[in-house]
Amino acid sequence: KRFAHDVFRKKPGPTAAQLPPEDGKRAKAALISLVRNSEIDQLKQSMTELEAVFNHKFNYPWIFFNDEPFDENFKKVTRELTNAEIQYEQIPKEHWEVPSWINKDLMYASFDKLASENVQYSKMLSYHQMCRWNSGMFYKHPALDDYKWYWRVEPNVHFYCDIDYDVFRFMEKNNKTYGFTINLYDSPQSLPTLWPTTEEYIDAHPEYLAPDNSMEWLTDATNRPHHNFLAHGYSACHFWSNFEIADLDFWRGDAYDKYFEYLDKSGGFFYERWGDAPVHSIGVGLFADKSQVHYFDDIGYNHVPFVNCPDLPGKCRGCEPNEFFRGVGLEKENCMPVWNKMMEKAN
Ligand code: GDP
Ligand code: MN
Repeated sequence: KRFAHDVFRKKPGPTAAQLPPEDGKRAKAALISLVRNSEIDQLKQSMTELEAVFNHKFNYPWIFFNDEPFDENFKKVTRELTNAEIQYEQIPKEHWEVPSWINKDLMYASFDKLASENVQYSKMLSYHQMCRWNSGMFYKHPALDDYKWYWRVEPNVHFYCDIDYDVFRFMEKNNKTYGFTINLYDSPQSLPTLWPTTEEYIDAHPEYLAPDNSMEWLTDATNRPHHNFLAHGYSACHFWSNFEIADLDFWRGDAYDKYFEYLDKSGGFFYERWGDAPVHSIGVGLFADKSQVHYFDDIGYNHVPFVNCPDLPGKCRGCEPNEFFRGVGLEKENCMPVWNKMMEKAN
């Protein structure tokens, strides 16, 4: 089997001035990645492929974030992979550190309890910090102040299909807030009080609920009732946030930012292992209309072990049309049927 990274070659891209955008305008957008120096090889894969399918045509800047300084090797390797500008940004300590109100003894005791329930990464403090940063801190980084749109990229992902249009301009023109490729169930054991805490916030701020929100998808209990039971009313459905194309202004707005603050004060990023994927998804599902959420069915994508593979003859290399997972027995992890059911009713 041939995979995308075997066949892609870096092509010399046109400069920004030679670019297609129909009316000559570009979006205020960046490709962003939180990444460690040690992940340079995996990042190289992601970056090479995204440049090949999309960015060599558009040259949107890359912005890398790290809780530590980037090393020279990281900079040298990444500079060779794009014609676009690159920024290397360190995260301010106050955005990454465990907040003062967290009780460390309780936190470590919680890690043990979560681990006994097989919650992945629950004993890794940096993972909790990463989830919190991605939930409510990344959009506060000054490097993003001048941007409205971002595409989140992780090390070790694949992009399989040519993208011939400017996805950011697409979002802008179609009044979209959030774009995803994969829609899954989360581990309910990682977030037992996330939904109850969310309900407290909604009760205090009913004015923030979007009129045409995705409550039906967020609270579905028909497909996997046990997930809903363990998550106390939350379906555990979420957009897989290792891929996101979204509007920074949505996160910056009061509805979401105050929601994050409320969650943060409750301590669930450390006493439980709330992921940024369910937190973003609940935020989008409650505070945006469902018409503002876009499924990029045309973007071929893989983050182990799940795949989004369009059926676009001649445009994709390395995935099988409609392939959803690699490995065994993961079809029940797909929450797209619940999403589709809701969207069909809307149309
Ligand atoms: P998973 O996808 O849930 O298995 O989590 P990952 O290990 O892929 O982490 C998610 C993203 O955060 C990836 O882009 C990682 O490179 C990044 N990341 C996770 N932990 C850290 C950390 O402690 N420091 C930095 N700089 N990046 C991190
Ligand atoms: Mn990952």
